[in-house]
Amino acid sequence: MTSIEYRLPQQRRLVTALPGPRSAALTERRRTAVGAGVASSVPVYAADVDGGIVVDVDGNALIDLGSGIAVTSVGASDPAVVAAVQEQVAHFTHTCFMVTPYEGYIAVAEKLAALTPGDHAKRTVLFNSGAEAVENAVKIARVATGRSAVVVFDHAYHGRTNLTMALTAKNQPYKEGFGPFAPDIHRVPASYPFREGRNYDGTEVTGEQAAHRAISQIDKQIGAHNVAAIVLEPIQGEGGFIVPAKGFLPTLVDWAKANGIVFVADEVQTGFARTGDWFASNDENVVPDLMTLAKGIAGGMPLAAVTGRAELIDAVHGGGLGGTYGGNPVACAAALATLDRIEQLDLCGRARRIEQIATEQLRALAADVDIVGEVRGRGAMLAVEFVQPGTREPNPEATRAIAAKALEQGVIVLTCGTYGNVVRLLPPLVISDELLTDGLDVLTAAVRDVAGVRPTLAGATR
Ligand SMILES: *Cc1c(COP(=O)(O)O)cnc(C)c1O
Repeated sequence: MTSIEYRLPQQRRLVTALPGPRSAALTERRRTAVGAGVASSVPVYAADVDGGIVVDVDGNALIDLGSGIAVTSVGASDPAVVAAVQEQVAHFTHTCFMVTPYEGYIAVAEKLAALTPGDHAKRTVLFNSGAEAVENAVKIARVATGRSAVVVFDHAYHGRTNLTMALTAKNQPYKEGFGPFAPDIHRVPASYPFREGRNYDGTEVTGEQAAHRAISQIDKQIGAHNVAAIVLEPIQGEGGFIVPAKGFLPTLVDWAKANGIVFVADEVQTGFARTGDWFASNDENVVPDLMTLAKGIAGGMPLAAVTGRAELIDAVHGGGLGGTYGGNPVACAAALATLDRIEQLDLCGRARRIEQIATEQLRALAADVDIVGEVRGRGAMLAVEFVQPGTREPNPEATRAIAAKALEQGVIVLTCGTYGNVVRLLPPLVISDELLTDGLDVLTAAVRDVAGVRPTLAGATR
């Protein structure tokens, strides 16, 4: 295993209050130039990013526990990725694969066929964003099955285009005012163990039962023979890092197979070592018919893919899929370097190590404060769900306050969840143990502070 070398010192350092004067000036400039609909979770502007550190335009060094939403798993300036991009960009930036094709696209497709679950014949088509990949998975499933209905789940997030807004569950902010949405999309209940009811006899609802609840609804309300695809995130991301009960995924996959329905695993957020394995589907040996991939695939360069069964993807007529930029050669070069780095640096192992370090601290925290409802997740995709003390009522106010306090101390954490009450941890997988521990110290101190429990935030600031 190659060791990780950093270009920037991996240490949190604040030289101004946040945001500093330069960031504040950019925020002013932005107000008169950038659309108000684009929100930023952090009001500091990036100047240089390496490993687990984001240096802002005022010279503050912040700890990154978000990876630009699970994208820069190998870091935002990994030397091998940078070199691959520089090499490619010096030769050609674009030809359009639909005009003059090039090898990088094919090499990415070969690599994805080798890495994704299942040893069946596979094909890949490349796109620019996660949403575009999900749209195309639906197009493929409809052509391959000759059916049109698509099944999605409560708490789902699949993107911001018209079709993917329809697939996404949460109205505010993703859908509000943007309708009408694409038709023939049907939402069924997910498996959300923390918010699950109980069986009549008091036993816990199992993953199999949760799957059958969804299946029964599909049968009764749509009819299995009308369904082209079931689209599901194996761990729901924006919805709150919801890990379904064991058995939920395999039961749905088996049922889809028996009914000629295409099972699409949306691994845009869970993919590429994030959960401690190449894909979250591997956890229960789930073999999806199609997978949608993006975010962590190319070290921050925009690239997305649909990878899956050859007979499904090849069912689409020539010219039916594509796009001007899809599989851009620079993005493909970055992806090939990124996938190599994930192997070389054993980032799956790093993700598991991050889980170990973080869950130890977070579980200790949960024992101390009464606003932590649940600590959950897998690998380096971890979350804390906050509740009103002594209940399971969501506590979005505390969640926002915690993220703001962590940022004040120079730690970038993101929130998520249908109820806005989840702090999610998505550190770059190359973050050092020391930096991660410092970031977690700040975060847990912020939680204690908001919960009104000793010690104070100042006590934990080194
Ligand atoms: C982020 C995300 C998308 C959308 O990806 P974009 O690149 O933002 O279009 C789709 N599905 C899941 C699960 C995601 O997390």
